Amino acid sequence: MTALSLRGMSKRFGSLAAVDDVSIKIPAGCFVCLLGPSGCGKTTLLRLIAGLEEPSAGSLHAGEREITGLAPNQREFGMVFQSLALFPHLDVAENIGYPLAIRGHSRSARTERVAELLDLVQLSGLGKRRIHQLSGGQRQRVAIARGLAIDPKVFLLDEPLSALDANLREHMQVELRQLQQRLGVTTLVVTHDQKEALTMADLVIVMKDGKVQQAGAPMEIYRDPANAFVAGFIGQSNLLPCTLAADGSVGIDGLQLKLAPQDRIKAKPGPAMLSIRPEDLRPDPQGPIEARVAFIRDLGESVQIALDFGETRLQAVFAPRERPQVAIGDSLRLAPAPGGVVVLAPSAEQAA
Ligand code: ATP
Repeated sequence: MTALSLRGMSKRFGSLAAVDDVSIKIPAGCFVCLLGPSGCGKTTLLRLIAGLEEPSAGSLHAGEREITGLAPNQREFGMVFQSLALFPHLDVAENIGYPLAIRGHSRSARTERVAELLDLVQLSGLGKRRIHQLSGGQRQRVAIARGLAIDPKVFLLDEPLSALDANLREHMQVELRQLQQRLGVTTLVVTHDQKEALTMADLVIVMKDGKVQQAGAPMEIYRDPANAFVAGFIGQSNLLPCTLAADGSVGIDGLQLKLAPQDRIKAKPGPAMLSIRPEDLRPDPQGPIEARVAFIRDLGESVQIALDFGETRLQAVFAPRERPQVAIGDSLRLAPAPGGVVVLAPSAEQAA
């Protein structure tokens, strides 16, 4: 079942298209991450869904019902802002119960629901505290509980974890995901952190310049990027300008590389971009790629080796047991793992 469908939604600010013709269907119960670099339009898209911005074009549907013209409070969506926007003059319980108070719920109904929510976000016993008496993670939980107070059909969060330090952030990622799974609420989270998106989401929507570049499951986006931007933005990737020949082989810096049947070609013959993940470069004495070791980083659970291949710096990563016995300056032959190569359409700069 589709919870939300966006049809040709755009938002212009003067001549800038902050959101540019976005059409997407969001299945009910799905955890969605809107991901992209700063200024790509993630927050604007979330605000369009919340009803806090009026679209310049397009429409929004909740199930079968068009809701484009509905005011934010008529949509029955929960929202957590980046700033959290908690009220310092109210205590924790009053903050959480606020959306219910403005909807006219009785005091007893509010008290009961707030107790449930405090329990849900593991803050039972802290209802009487003021916001300034809470830790960063506890404040985050208050904002999440307040966003869930009305039992929303859709839960919208704008960079909810960005103010937390790395450890707490990872902990809250897991907590938020478990909470969402327990409640089954359709959730959209804005983030610019690709690791956060890959670990939490069922569906990742990658944006650039107001446009959706790719929407898919995290591993689909990682293994099968739609274009060079997505390949470079999600995880680490070796991106090499190349020429795709009509026979399906690729020329890189004088080297003609034969592709494996499992490799994916998403470009027309001519200039293209080859993408190989660092873990897909294997040491192989017969391998077609000969590169010079530039740097070795031993991280215990893995070894990262940077190599110079012509003008290009390649990154390779090996499990400790597979570590090639090389030192800086040595030459190393590598072969791409079958299925590890994606040939993509050239990036805009390359095509220009
Ligand atoms: P960040 O990760 O930095 O928060 P974002 O991807 O959420 O960025 P948006 O905040 O949606 O991006 O902004 C998209 C573009 O629209 C930016 O160029 C921004 O400057 C512009 N923009 C956003 N809101 C307005 C506004 N009210 N008036 C004019 N321009 C705006």
